[in-house]
Amino acid sequence: MKNPIAELDGDEMTRVLWALIKEKLLLPFIDLKTEYFDLGLENRETTNDEVTRQSALAIKRLGVGVKCATITSNAERKVEYNLKNLFPSPNATIRAILDGTVFRKPISVPCIQPAVSCWKKPIVIGRHAYGDVYKAAEMQIPSAGKVELVFTPDDGTAQKTITVAQMQGPGIVSGMHNLDESIKNFARACFLYAIDEKIPVWFATKDTISKTYDGRFKEIFTAVYETEFKEKCTKAGIDYFYTLIDDAVARVVKSDGGFLWACKNYDGDVMSDMIASACGSLAMMTSVLVSPSGVFEYEAAHGTVQKHYYRWQKGEKTSTNPIALIFAWTGALAKRAQLDGTPELFSFAKKLEDAVFKTIEKGEMTGDLACMAAPAPARILNSWEYIDAIARMLV
Ligand code: NAP
Ligand code: MG
Repeated sequence: MKNPIAELDGDEMTRVLWALIKEKLLLPFIDLKTEYFDLGLENRETTNDEVTRQSALAIKRLGVGVKCATITSNAERKVEYNLKNLFPSPNATIRAILDGTVFRKPISVPCIQPAVSCWKKPIVIGRHAYGDVYKAAEMQIPSAGKVELVFTPDDGTAQKTITVAQMQGPGIVSGMHNLDESIKNFARACFLYAIDEKIPVWFATKDTISKTYDGRFKEIFTAVYETEFKEKCTKAGIDYFYTLIDDAVARVVKSDGGFLWACKNYDGDVMSDMIASACGSLAMMTSVLVSPSGVFEYEAAHGTVQKHYYRWQKGEKTSTNPIALIFAWTGALAKRAQLDGTPELFSFAKKLEDAVFKTIEKGEMTGDLACMAAPAPARILNSWEYIDAIARMLV
């Protein structure tokens, strides 16, 4: 390897698999260079979450990062890990620093048919990863009263105020925001990705109800298409389609796939899980954050697989699927190779992905896939056996 990638270790079962993947599938085959950051919950607590910020800055500096799944701390985790603080989700912190769009693409294998039988090609979700409900200011309202939205311009000109609600009693309120620049970059990232992959772009919001907020998303996204990408898209033979979010959802289910579905932050969060589970398993979904400055962060779409971890702690060799984690690594290595002009590293990444496909073709797989595969495999492998099977394909 010419240049290092930022490596962000994580928690629970994915942390166990992370070490195993490095030991069995990477270190014996390449001269792996990384800058290592331990984003395990204990170290985030010890460093006052500074490690998360440092890791995001390292991704920015190095251009490529790979991240293991991490626990988002909540009240239960606070007790479990004896935490003093509850920090925001590492992904939220990293996305806030890098800005950008998350693309989630299912990993399709022939022996596993999507639950939606008309889906013949992958549906890629492009999730805007900035703002909205993920950066909202929320307040619990204790009693009747007036809730207002106030804008105070930095330049000292007059304030703008509107009433959110005249509350008749206790309740809740949320204030969301987004930035024109971030929406523009979201649209740009989507069109660049789509042109690269030669797939059409769908975008949807609820602009009939949210006329100002979602209306602005529609306006900016469409303007970016018209002014910057229309010609390039025509040349690439792809088009742009805008519709209402409910119409989009209905059409997606009846489509044959093969497009990029550009989603607002919350829609993308929810819809990517729906697509992943309809395509087989959460462990068959890759995820990459593409920032407007051309920085890439690869990860698995799933979490830390907490339930498997508790079983592993009791001594069980769980059948946790490592494929999305392996593809996070291959995505990062292939991108590093592209940026550095190192074709051998690129070939290794593709060879490792091929090895994964070949094991499945041979009927070697973990339990989550085994129960959906046709024909069903003779035996379910645990993660250790499965990773060994991939390693055998590589030598
Ligand atoms: P999860 O880790 O995504 O797992 C949910 C369930 O999905 C598992 O119990 C398992 O089902 C199945 N699953 C997910 N990945 C799998 C794999 N690789 N192989 C086999 N089955 C898999 O979600 P969670 O358990 O609800 O969340 C655990 C922690 O992850 C939470 O603390 C959350 O904050 C965090 N999280 C992190 C990220 C991230 O870092 N990007 C994303 C989401 C969640 P069965 O139990 O039925 O086998
Ligand atoms: Mg989600």
